[in-house]
Amino acid sequence: MITCPRCQSGRIVKNGFTHNHVQNYKCKSCSRQFVLDRKHPPITQATLDLIDKLLLERISLRGIVRVTGVSHRWFFDYLKKKYAEVPQKFEEFSKQEVEERTEKKGASSLNATKSKPTSRRSKTAGGSG
Ligand SMILES: [Zn+2]
Repeated sequence: MITCPRCQSGRIVKNGFTHNHVQNYKCKSCSRQFVLDRKHPPITQATLDLIDKLLLERISLRGIVRVTGVSHRWFFDYLKKKYAEVPQKFEEFSKQEVEERTEKKGASSLNATKSKPTSRRSKTAGGSG
């Protein structure tokens, strides 16, 4: 029996399909929409929201994995999908992961990096300097 991930209600109705052709469901009690994904462990929307928040806080990847309790593998898969359109961002994360592995001494350096918000859509690549 399908139950709502939010309110555990059993009043679930089919709600069409997602863009991935996955059956979508909707809770009649709280109007929550969700899909049944058997490939991944049950990760709630709350966890996803938390991950998104933590990513913005520049917390280490290992820290995020520990806090949220998701598997390392799933987490990286999620990042890949999330940043599929901005590989540069993901590269940053991967680099961070490597640095954490190699540099396991407690020497943490706080350096402020300037980053301009890119609001304009420009497809020009390159220009190192
Ligand atoms: Zn519900």
